[in-house]
Amino acid sequence: EIFGRVRKNSAGINMNIQNEWAQLSSAYQPYLLRTWQAAPVIGGNTLHQGEVHEVHCPYEKNNVVGEVRYATVEQVTQAMDALAAYWPSWNATAVDSRASILEKLADLLEEHRPELMALCTLEAGKTLQDGIDEVREAVDFCRYYAQQARLKLGREELPGPTGERNELFHEGRGIFACISPWNFPLAIFLGQISAALVAGNVVLMKPAEQTSLIAARTVELMFKAGLPKEAVAFLPGDGALLGNVFCRDARLSGVCFTGSTEVARLINRQLAEKDGAIATLIAETGGQNAMLVDSTALPEQVIKDAIASAFTSAGQRCSALRVLYVQEDIAEKIIELLKGAMAEIKIGQSHLRETDVGPVIDAEAKEGLLMHIQRLQEQGKLIAETPMPAGLNGHFVAPVAFEIGSIRELSKEQFGPILHLVRYKAADLGNVIDDINATGYGLTLGVHSRNEETAAFIERRARVGNLYVNRNQVGAVVGVQPFGGCGLSGTGPKAGGPAYLLRFVTERTTSTNT
Ligand code: GLU
Repeated sequence: EIFGRVRKNSAGINMNIQNEWAQLSSAYQPYLLRTWQAAPVIGGNTLHQGEVHEVHCPYEKNNVVGEVRYATVEQVTQAMDALAAYWPSWNATAVDSRASILEKLADLLEEHRPELMALCTLEAGKTLQDGIDEVREAVDFCRYYAQQARLKLGREELPGPTGERNELFHEGRGIFACISPWNFPLAIFLGQISAALVAGNVVLMKPAEQTSLIAARTVELMFKAGLPKEAVAFLPGDGALLGNVFCRDARLSGVCFTGSTEVARLINRQLAEKDGAIATLIAETGGQNAMLVDSTALPEQVIKDAIASAFTSAGQRCSALRVLYVQEDIAEKIIELLKGAMAEIKIGQSHLRETDVGPVIDAEAKEGLLMHIQRLQEQGKLIAETPMPAGLNGHFVAPVAFEIGSIRELSKEQFGPILHLVRYKAADLGNVIDDINATGYGLTLGVHSRNEETAAFIERRARVGNLYVNRNQVGAVVGVQPFGGCGLSGTGPKAGGPAYLLRFVTERTTSTNT
């Protein structure tokens, strides 16, 4: 819908992709049979030391998709040496040339779409629609940051007294570490890196352990697009082990991180303790996202948007809806519709056209979610569930909805297809928003109301980064809905927004007496 090309199925999820599928189908299939490799790369050289780990497909556990060679601690120092040596050259490269490389990369990503989609499916368990959206977003990031760099990173003359010339310009900060998550293994991986590079930084790339194969293939495409091989180092592997070394390296100038709030805090501490430059941290972390539905809302629209927000990508988005607040007058109606819609969602293997919801990322994620589900089930709070088909052999968690008393009952974010519903009284709306604010997170908030004053009141009172009114609350579009929150949800600036690149640069001025 957002992209003007997605057809929604009856359960409201953007997954029925007849037209695109017809074009992609023959190109995509052969890649499902391939296996991939990833290994550390420094200065364009692939390294052969380090332990090798097998990658298993999340929707078919016995299927080995490839192998990843994990980087070693020694390689981190080697990477920092190489990056430090090359930074002055990259920083001196014209913004225009750096931007052109990103544009070339965007073209290559589009050209390799079937392969990248297959990797998203096999390694991250993404459905076909999610794979399509993932490539689209990665392309958008590259093009958007290229355009923004041209627009914002030039030399600007500032007004000043006669006889003096004052100029403002920007350069990279130095070495940036980009630490990306498995839930957007291509889009966020590249979003971070493309911003850091185009702003004049060299980059240490640390992809999520679970999705190093997609990252490794993307690095090959970066080189093919003309990125100098010395401008990046690719270090797949154990985040805690490697991060503890590069986040403490005196030469590191900044970290761009997407992941948990807990890890963002750890990185922040490591950066604070290290020697050398005071490093910048750009962190995009979790959420405890709600949707507020009042009695003027259109119930069918609410269901469609709540289902899409809670269950797209098996709920593994930090923007995803976790708590659906429904005004008590229409709660019964909403619950009835929710049950019907959830019964229609198709759980299945990610590469199949009919699949709406695929697996979660791994066994550990599944286990954590099932514990939460079991606890609420034992308390008798279940209101709706999607039937789990027999015969699946992956990390599947069926979409499920529970009724609880308040968002205050949830101690942490559940990163999966679990929706909580809360009834509220109209007179309590202010308190409800205060409860949502009190979680400390501030990422997305949905509102369904045909009363404009209500929406305006919510906008004033709620502390969130992205507010969505009368629509779903996932799938922020680059340059259209800049994405990111506040408080426990992250530092900002918003990814895909006009302020993002400026956090990656050092501002300089030169004042000349003429
Ligand atoms: N930007 C994504 C969205 O709007 C979420 C990103 C994330 O999960 O980190 O759905």
